[in-house]
Amino acid sequence: MRVMFIGANHEVTGSCTLIEACGKKILVDCGMEQGPDIYENCELPVVPGEIDAVCLTHAHIDHSGKIPNMVANGFSGKIHMTEATGKLCSIMLRDSAHIQEFEAQWRNRKAKRSGEDQYTPLYTPEDVEKTVRLFVTHNYEDTVRLFDGIKISFFDAGHLLGSSNILFEITEDGVTKTILFSGDVGNLNRPLIKNPQTPPHADYVVCESTYGDRTHGPAPDYVGQLAQVIDETLSGGGNLVIPAFAVGRTQELLYLIRVIKEKNLCPDCGNFPVYVDSPLAIEATSIYSSEVAEYFDDETVSLLEKGINPISFPNLRVAVSSEESTAINNNPEPKVIISASGMCEAGRIRHHLKHNLWRRECAVLFCGFQCEGTLGRRLIDGAAMVKLFGDNITVRARIYNLNGFSGHADRNMLLQWLREVDAKQIFINHGEDAVSTEFALTCESELNTPAIAPYSGDVYDLASGECIEKARIIRAEGKKDFATKRAKDVFDRLLSAVARLKRVAESLKGSSNKELAKFTDQINNLCDKYEK
Ligand SMILES: [Zn+2]
Ligand SMILES: [Zn+2]
Repeated sequence: MRVMFIGANHEVTGSCTLIEACGKKILVDCGMEQGPDIYENCELPVVPGEIDAVCLTHAHIDHSGKIPNMVANGFSGKIHMTEATGKLCSIMLRDSAHIQEFEAQWRNRKAKRSGEDQYTPLYTPEDVEKTVRLFVTHNYEDTVRLFDGIKISFFDAGHLLGSSNILFEITEDGVTKTILFSGDVGNLNRPLIKNPQTPPHADYVVCESTYGDRTHGPAPDYVGQLAQVIDETLSGGGNLVIPAFAVGRTQELLYLIRVIKEKNLCPDCGNFPVYVDSPLAIEATSIYSSEVAEYFDDETVSLLEKGINPISFPNLRVAVSSEESTAINNNPEPKVIISASGMCEAGRIRHHLKHNLWRRECAVLFCGFQCEGTLGRRLIDGAAMVKLFGDNITVRARIYNLNGFSGHADRNMLLQWLREVDAKQIFINHGEDAVSTEFALTCESELNTPAIAPYSGDVYDLASGECIEKARIIRAEGKKDFATKRAKDVFDRLLSAVARLKRVAESLKGSSNKELAKFTDQINNLCDKYEK
């Protein structure tokens, strides 16, 4: 039994870890890399068709976004997750497929002009539909027998609706070991969702470190702070632009604005309009309903019982089409605009920034983690000028950063969470380069437990706990998970089909001699045709 680290090692995005045990190969998360890439991820050591299952901690694209690419290249196993993750993940992957196609079209227009090879998207909407059909959903704390010798269970990570830590219990050659994957550990007292639950004990733990070098400080008064920024900005005639992740953060903001409106905390702004300008956010908002009541915290459940929609209020407007989106900035009425992407790297938020950043009376409010190198980070760091759609835009709007308004546990919460797990060995991932290294040292000194931040390609034997393969550490050259010229993918599909052929052949053991002979003849005919 072994674990191989593939992605989100010394980086925040692209989560992916491979477990090999009991003759099976299982991926925990298979995320897309977002923002600038720091290290090259190693290739999976096998083709997608040889992976037996995927277990998904939560729906965010940096954990789930490459699964359809695996399916496009021959993965056909089951994908395990909680029910709420299944609902959110299907809409997020559909949205991601559209982004992939759009990206490929855009690149192809450029490639055509320069005479380069054509690009294909990482995956298509059809690949996503195939992916969704492989979803198998489970309840928190149920023990699921994945394969002979391998059991998993999900625990509420308190980070996003349906988010989980996943515990593996593996028995091989008479030895049983447990390994817990944190996924993303949530912050305390978030709107809508529960606090992270006490994690189970495990021999090994793979833990995120997004905020491993920081504390959020005393719990901020989210409602009061947000009300103040809305009041100041809108009463001065400006717009308040809030870049927010479409799934999770947008719904939390709607929850807070409902409270602000209900308590009339912005008396000078009247019944101010709030726009949600992101088709994905609008779709996700519809999932946050009584259908997933068991995933909500007590306050939200009691609102639902009283017939109150916790994330709706008067003058909430949505923009689905791009015409509706454009109309938002043609209308001079002061307003709140919530749009994606959360780090301002793509999506409609960039239009809103272009229209509002140069206006002194406007404001931009950040309320989520901003990766190094993103436009969001540059604005928080005080950039005086930014480039949007080829134009230089002077930053005159006020920039706010709602510190502590984070979906991630901070350093102290992570340490407390790790104390509960009480593992013999800690692996740190999902943090910026310096942060993950530093947090591993923090764990060693504070918890007295061996801790390491492995690199992509490192392999550990789980029976002995020893590192059995050391990665070659390769600095990235700005490569991203976008559309590719995918000769390799095409060959991977072929090898995946061969892996499937082997599985089918094995499953025919015990069939009639006639059937076996027929199958064998057909394979040989095919080989005769292609053998050169
Ligand atoms: Zn996440
Ligand atoms: Zn994450």
